[in-house]
Amino acid sequence: MPGLEDLYREIILDHYRNPRNRGELESPPALRVEGFNPLCGDEIVVYLELDGEGRIAEIRIGGQGCSISQSSASMMSAAVKGRTIAEVGDLTRAFKAMMSIHESSLGGEAAEPAEVPDVKLGDLEALRGVVKFPVRIKCATLAWNTLAQALDDAAS
Ligand code: ZN
Repeated sequence: MPGLEDLYREIILDHYRNPRNRGELESPPALRVEGFNPLCGDEIVVYLELDGEGRIAEIRIGGQGCSISQSSASMMSAAVKGRTIAEVGDLTRAFKAMMSIHESSLGGEAAEPAEVPDVKLGDLEALRGVVKFPVRIKCATLAWNTLAQALDDAAS
């Protein structure tokens, strides 16, 4: 029986090889925000359309980079599509809390456990192993930071 790490590796590779919501949206009307991780050379472009109720109606992902950055962006796009901005905020906090486990063990800034929303991470759990490689955490969080910037732009 394959171990959890094998399963996680398979999920990450599946999203890397068959990225979800890959492509572009016409901008405008869609929001277009670019993110860059200079540590690894990863680029993510998020295209976003909100509906009248503040839900993510459409999302597309462009850019290029390492397997962690691109599979994380694919998982993110699948996880947030159809969700409200508030739900996306909870998901982002839960994901970043998972990613900060290592930072907290090193005595860095850590999210207050009590503030971590109780949401299901689904496939995103597959990135849990990344915390063992601190230099890759920015690869995993790039898409989420780029999405957060797009939502900030949408609110302003
Ligand atoms: Zn990377």
